Amino acid sequence: MRVGFVGWRGMVGSVLRARMTEEGDWSAIDPVFFSTSQVGAPAPEVGRPCPPLADAHDLDALAQLPVLVSCQGSDWTRQVHGPLRARGWRGHFIDASSALRLKDDAVLLLDPINGPAIDAALDAGTLDLVGANCTVSLMLMAVGGLFARGWVSWVSAMTYQAASGAGAAQMRELVAQMRDLGEAAAPLLDDPAADALAIEGRVSARLRDPRHPTAALGHPLAGSLLPWIDAPMADGQSREEWKAMAEGNKLLGLNPPVPMDGLCVRTGSLRCHAQGLTLGLNRDLPLDVLEAAIADSTPWTRVIPNQPEPSLRQLSPAAVSGSLDIAVGRIRKLKTDPRHLGAFTVGDQLLWGAAEPLRRALQILRKRGLGA
Ligand code: NAP
Repeated sequence: MRVGFVGWRGMVGSVLRARMTEEGDWSAIDPVFFSTSQVGAPAPEVGRPCPPLADAHDLDALAQLPVLVSCQGSDWTRQVHGPLRARGWRGHFIDASSALRLKDDAVLLLDPINGPAIDAALDAGTLDLVGANCTVSLMLMAVGGLFARGWVSWVSAMTYQAASGAGAAQMRELVAQMRDLGEAAAPLLDDPAADALAIEGRVSARLRDPRHPTAALGHPLAGSLLPWIDAPMADGQSREEWKAMAEGNKLLGLNPPVPMDGLCVRTGSLRCHAQGLTLGLNRDLPLDVLEAAIADSTPWTRVIPNQPEPSLRQLSPAAVSGSLDIAVGRIRKLKTDPRHLGAFTVGDQLLWGAAEPLRRALQILRKRGLGA
């Protein structure tokens, strides 16, 4: 299968290439790598010879390929997808960005949750296959079993999202901020007699110092947090918050839609989005029944006992980063109503939230003999 890859050196693209190498996918794929910035440079190493980087704005070169995979971002997709289709290109377009997600003729990719819908779309000739928002995908991987049983009336998701969710440059800057703060505090940290308030004062002053690196993130994140992700929408929502209801319902094929909302916050983790969920259920069910339904969401969903030690050891970005596991814990009935269920979930947004559904879309096309 000849496949063009755009955006392969960013966060999502790097994880996609690593997963394809881990799974031995390259043996069945003849890749052409594109770039928006480094045309003519050597292609990345994938264990087979590849031509130098092609120009990601060269429509002639792109249109020669039966499958394109983009992890480049919405701007590139908006620039290129329409013109390619307008000139009659009928290839499969697999995209990580949000640009095409809500188009009627695009299917969202999260096959452990909506595999039958993806199959039906491909049967119907759908050509645009789009990864869903990372937070939405991780929530559905975590508690999809409750939706599948029709038990969910509404959801609130309070998120704790990693810096790498914003991109490679932002994640690098978070680590640079950590170093900068560490260096500011180093003389006091090295002095066992220095008091904690003096260390805090030194670090807090550096957070507000114009020399503290903020070019990519716009604000201090290490030692702080960012309570707004993406553009403003109507009614005070951020676009990241708006995506939960729009994409979650599209992905699940729910009509009437289930209300989904919350507050999305960027935190100082490098990788993994965590979410504190409140689920309004339409019945009062025993906790063990609800836990079993959650565990049944996908083969990767892991229920963590609601006790301190397992929660602290297994339900954190430190524990889950780099793994396909979707950890769900802190599951308990809330005091507000016996039909209100609380849960905390952590998943690697670069895997199930981004690269893995795209990688599996290539497998699905290949098994169907599409994209040849
Ligand atoms: P990213 O890391 O910013 O990479 C996107 C492109 O930026 C790269 O392909 C590269 O293009 C260029 N770039 C500029 N500086 C770079 C640097 N220092 N290191 C690497 N690449 C750099 O973006 P991303 O996070 O992978 O996101 C790609 C798309 O996936 C976006 O639409 C995003 O919304 C979506 N998405 C992201 C996540 C996530 O967790 N990050 C999750 C789900 C969906 P050239 O090589 O052409 O210069």
